[in-house]
Amino acid sequence: MAASKVLTGARVVLPTGIVDGGRVIVDGTRIADTGTGAGTGTAPADAETYDVSGHWLVPGFVDLHNHGGGGASFSGSADDVLTAVRTHRAHGTTTLVASTVTDDMDVLTRQAGLLSELAEQGEIAGVHFEGPFISPCRKGAHSEALLRHPDPAEVRKLLDAARGHAKMVTLATELPGGLDSVRLLAEHGVIAAVGHTDATYEQTVEAIDTGATVATHLFNAMPALGHRAPGPIAALLEDERVTVELINDGVHLHPAALELAFHHAGAARVAFITDAMDAAGSGDGRYLLGPLEVEVTDGVARLVEGDSIAGSTLTLDRAFKRAVTVDGLPVQDVVAALSANPARLLGLDDRIGSLEAGKDADLVLLDEEFTLKGVLRRGAWVVGPHLG
Ligand SMILES: [Zn+2]
Repeated sequence: MAASKVLTGARVVLPTGIVDGGRVIVDGTRIADTGTGAGTGTAPADAETYDVSGHWLVPGFVDLHNHGGGGASFSGSADDVLTAVRTHRAHGTTTLVASTVTDDMDVLTRQAGLLSELAEQGEIAGVHFEGPFISPCRKGAHSEALLRHPDPAEVRKLLDAARGHAKMVTLATELPGGLDSVRLLAEHGVIAAVGHTDATYEQTVEAIDTGATVATHLFNAMPALGHRAPGPIAALLEDERVTVELINDGVHLHPAALELAFHHAGAARVAFITDAMDAAGSGDGRYLLGPLEVEVTDGVARLVEGDSIAGSTLTLDRAFKRAVTVDGLPVQDVVAALSANPARLLGLDDRIGSLEAGKDADLVLLDEEFTLKGVLRRGAWVVGPHLG
């Protein structure tokens, strides 16, 4: 059992606003109290005390869409999965949904079984199937030969293989069987995400009306916004039932596109994701993304054949820093996009996503330049705290 901890003097981002000289008291794995003042409040006398003046304390990050990191992928062995989880955890992601890529149904169902065990052990928050039910026109870094039309019976197979831990399926809802698959997912409480799609505006509206609630990396792997053919982007941005994923790495999106989405959807409907592949938290070189070869140069991942961007090498601490220091977004909005919104989408907002008494003690400590200095997960230090 982790010891009690008191963190004082920080600029704390609470659901009610930003508090200067704030305090967070951790009891075991949970947050016992938050407030202001330098005192130790209701903490036990033997609590470890940390003066974190000059730092920010924000909720742990929640990544809805992530394929791997640290040289390992969520399509690999249990050890690979743990390597990737620990890599991202060290960058502040205290909750993570493991994403698969398009592969044979047999491979995917087997991997779903492996990932569901790690979900049961509390290492990951569940599984996101990206493909194989996506459009060959917008396949990105997915293997074209393995793509298939959405078939509710096959979607059902994936859900069964994940034993209740499937959280999201990305699909091209305009394909035959697409809307029936969305309906099935919605009935099972699994997020139907519109993505890798060639849908029109009207087809996307229909998908949302049928139950789709997430846009998989808005802008990427879908038709561009046109004035006479507004496509999926306009439909996904305008509908209040939809949360839009954005990859804020400075590669996948022009800052103006990010700003447009953020301002149009509003801070409550954006989720920053990494869409990371193995090279995140690792380095340049040759990697695999599912069955496809990827070359990473200067942190940008591209397919060896075809040159398509193949996921990112982003970690969410970098997404945070960029959102504040480059995009100029308010810290409170960035916290919503990195923690509260994805937690709510996953139905985990009673336990995570904000700094509130009773929730898991998942905290990220950042310095004044928004560089990560510590990560507390379930009340235990994963990184740091590096103070000084
Ligand atoms: Zn992805």
